[in-house]
Amino acid sequence: MKKKALSIALILGMVMSLTACGSSGSDKGTATPGVLVMATNAEFPPYEYHEGSEIVGIDVEIAQAIAKKMGCTLQIEDIAFDSIIPEVVSGKADIGLAGMTVTPDRQQSVDFSDPYAASSQVVIVPEDSAITSLSDLSADSVVGVQTGTTGDIYCSDDDSIGTVERYNKGMEAVQALTQGKVDAVVIDREPAKVFVSENPGLKILGESYTDEDYAAAIRKGNTVLLDEVNSALQELTADGTLDNIVAKYISAN
Ligand code: GLN
Repeated sequence: MKKKALSIALILGMVMSLTACGSSGSDKGTATPGVLVMATNAEFPPYEYHEGSEIVGIDVEIAQAIAKKMGCTLQIEDIAFDSIIPEVVSGKADIGLAGMTVTPDRQQSVDFSDPYAASSQVVIVPEDSAITSLSDLSADSVVGVQTGTTGDIYCSDDDSIGTVERYNKGMEAVQALTQGKVDAVVIDREPAKVFVSENPGLKILGESYTDEDYAAAIRKGNTVLLDEVNSALQELTADGTLDNIVAKYISAN
């Protein structure tokens, strides 16, 4: 009887420490104990996007799996892409997870977890476009990008591109392309595939503009959380969870 009571107490204790977002009151480096706040921009399918009133996608499921391992509840903040790093820096959000590319510039402001996905910037053009390769981008080209993204940063630095038009959402840049307001859109590969499939008459050039890695942004110096996220990512990679999440949203073709 005594033994049973003890084991129930032990189990209860384990459950309680799990729901406390880590053991013995430790908050695992999150600003609010028990809660992992993720800042994202849910305009980036298949990584984060709206499905009815819900925000779903690869990053959302990865964050849910990390939060579960940490014993935290996940809270999602859907904000402008270029507000994500400031929110992480100020501590309003614990992690920025938004198909965010690791860049040396961003590494001045935040720390990045180990990369969890490889990506690239690609060029979308109308099917009948005179632009058939990267070398066709010229001083006459008007390229649409999403504000503050690597597409924006790299195209703005690229002397061979005439004009860069910035849009709040990637989808808005693609709409401008279908309306002939821009000649091409530079954007991440997987959202590009989704947008092209939804807008007939567009294609993706075979040659990528850049290759890059996605990682989670974490406030500089929050090594407790960085270590938690990295070990969760390692476990999720090793046990196949990460691959399963990706396979749910991206068909291998
Ligand atoms: N990967 C790009 C970047 O980090 C775009 C990310 C996004 O639009 N969510 O800038």
